[in-house]
Amino acid sequence: MIASSSQYCLSRNVALALGPALVALLLVASGSDGFPAASPEDAPLPPNELMFAEEDYEDEEANILRERLQSEYGMSLFGVPDNQTGQRVTEWQDGTGINPEELGEYVEGDILFPPSRNGIRLQSARWPGGVIPYYLSPGFTGYDLQNFQRAINSYHSLTCLRFVPYSGRESDYLVITNDNTGCWSAVGRTGGPQQLNLQSPGCTTLVGTIEHELMHAAGFLHEQNRWERDRYVTVHWQNIQSGREANFRPASRESTDDYGIAYDYGSVMHYSANAFSKNGQPTITPKAAGVELLGQRRGFSQGDVEKINRMYKHVCARRSAAPKSPKSPQH
Ligand SMILES: [Zn+2]
Repeated sequence: MIASSSQYCLSRNVALALGPALVALLLVASGSDGFPAASPEDAPLPPNELMFAEEDYEDEEANILRERLQSEYGMSLFGVPDNQTGQRVTEWQDGTGINPEELGEYVEGDILFPPSRNGIRLQSARWPGGVIPYYLSPGFTGYDLQNFQRAINSYHSLTCLRFVPYSGRESDYLVITNDNTGCWSAVGRTGGPQQLNLQSPGCTTLVGTIEHELMHAAGFLHEQNRWERDRYVTVHWQNIQSGREANFRPASRESTDDYGIAYDYGSVMHYSANAFSKNGQPTITPKAAGVELLGQRRGFSQGDVEKINRMYKHVCARRSAAPKSPKSPQH
């Protein structure tokens, strides 16, 4: 079981422990989650300043990712979750050829760093030891939780990352909500409680969607925006919804973070062929022969697994090196 009733009983204590930043954030996101009422001064600050905390970056790769986010997206990364996206995800159905996380108003559809009262903090660090604590908000159905557990199980069986229920003691953790604001996440560990939204049922229908958002939280971006993607796919700009062209902007070569993994058409981080289409025609098609499906969400590709394990190789190794429990007495 993922969420026991005792975990749900924690909600009020957890809400009190989260501090005003997340309380304000959740009120903006959903209007009411059973959290204490916010006073006007609890409203989030406008996104007017980028703050970077260098000490939170654990390695050079995290620095590269942060610089990429800053240079390529800037202030557009910051915003508030919106119900217009939620409405589109409510209407989404499996089998339509578009993934629910491609329906958002957010950067590239589903990347969002919500502001807090502490201001804008574009951190994007690894999770120490490869351990990601998470708190599941009440309200997910049994079906949602079953698929969530399947996603967690694939992380645990295939990668070195470990998702552990929030104990109330960790300072950095995911708060996984199911507001009507679509599917979205920040990229990497931002510090403090960090919201990730999986609108139910749209974002919980496919295990690959849950894996996708958790991969953003772990520190990954979309596959089709790799710097060298034009060798592998054709972007059909004439079919892209007006104003959504930036979602298809490739990364600069300097900021690449492919971890030596070849371009991966089968990645759960790849857009579907009709993502952000204005006319039902494909916005992105493969150049390689024999590639039939882009943007599958059945589950991790081999490339996804390898990329996660390479990004976290040294981070997870630090966990393995740590003593797990006090040594038992020697005879
Ligand atoms: Zn995404």
